[in-house]
Amino acid sequence: MGVKVLWDQQSPPGIQLPVCRNIAMILDIPVDLAESPILIDGYDRGRNQHDARTILDRLQNTFIRRYEIRDPVLLVVPRDLYVNGCDFVFGLARPSGGAAVVSTARFENAYYGRMESDDDLIDRTAKEGAHEIGHLLGLDHCESVECVMFRPSTLAELDRKKKMLCPACRQALLQRQGRE
Ligand SMILES: [Zn+2]
Ligand SMILES: [Zn+2]
Repeated sequence: MGVKVLWDQQSPPGIQLPVCRNIAMILDIPVDLAESPILIDGYDRGRNQHDARTILDRLQNTFIRRYEIRDPVLLVVPRDLYVNGCDFVFGLARPSGGAAVVSTARFENAYYGRMESDDDLIDRTAKEGAHEIGHLLGLDHCESVECVMFRPSTLAELDRKKKMLCPACRQALLQRQGRE
């Protein structure tokens, strides 16, 4: 069992491989990278954001079902995302459909008026990508602030997380996968 990462053509170029390597390391699972064929819709003009649920609907209906994908799929998009009731989300997972999406929009230092850094962008995309895939693999949110499964509300909380699962989440993942 592995996971599939689909990279939107407009997502930041040149960082796909390090992001996937980091996700593979965090979750200790093989990661397969491909260019995304998914059209990103769900744009809300008033919010200037995309509805993460609409993107997941399309990912499920046009890719996962059509190609009968059984592994978890993470779509990486450059567009800022929301779900009803939240100002924004870094990403969203739908475990029942095996589908997740993560946005790089708020992982860029430029979004906060800071100097660009590929290392920061790679770290954040890998942590939140691994977080959403963690949900697809059956993990819940974690109280440990340094664990990848902690739910960050701010960039500072995201940056405080380490690129790893805490021992409890690692154990839970192993049990889920029947590796223990
Ligand atoms: Zn979460
Ligand atoms: Zn944890």
